[in-house]
Amino acid sequence: MPKHATVKDYIRTIVNFPHEGIMFRDVTTLFADPRGFRMAIDQMLHPYAGERIDKVVGLEARGFILGGTIAHQLSVGFVPIRKKGKLPGTTISQDYKLEYGEAIVEIHDDAIQAGEKILVVDDLLATGGTAAAGIKLIERLGGEIISCAFIIDLPDLGGRKVLENLGMDVHTLCE
Ligand code: IMP
Repeated sequence: MPKHATVKDYIRTIVNFPHEGIMFRDVTTLFADPRGFRMAIDQMLHPYAGERIDKVVGLEARGFILGGTIAHQLSVGFVPIRKKGKLPGTTISQDYKLEYGEAIVEIHDDAIQAGEKILVVDDLLATGGTAAAGIKLIERLGGEIISCAFIIDLPDLGGRKVLENLGMDVHTLCE
């Protein structure tokens, strides 16, 4: 790795995963590197220095690794949004469109109190469908989303616009 490596330098691309024709941006190589991981967390936190954040919400699954670390750094609670059927308590659900078909995400109905200031975290923003569904869940519980943070933005897929049209502040580290 070059001496002045950026976050992007630590991200690996796997061709034809999970399907033929897909270039999968793999952040496990970033997570596995001590400097890379620390740099990514520091850069994700940077815009929020001095801001009030009550909880961090992470989107399954890489959003748990990032969100848990960021929540610990901020000394606030962490809340997972998971795929349908994974959370043990009483949940609310939100469906959203995938390229082929639909998916459902869930949150515990007591995980966020009305008025709490929320930071949403995931590894990658593509179409914005997953994050938009998560945003709806948080807002249905009365959470006030202060920002959404991702490592990677895939600008051709338009997710940033989707989230900005929902009134969101969006921070990403690289494209
Ligand atoms: P979206 O809903 O289309 O914005 O897709 C974003 C979700 O899919 C996130 O939860 C990502 O973790 C996951 N995802 C999509 N493409 C990739 C990729 O190339 N690498 C890692 N995660 C991806």
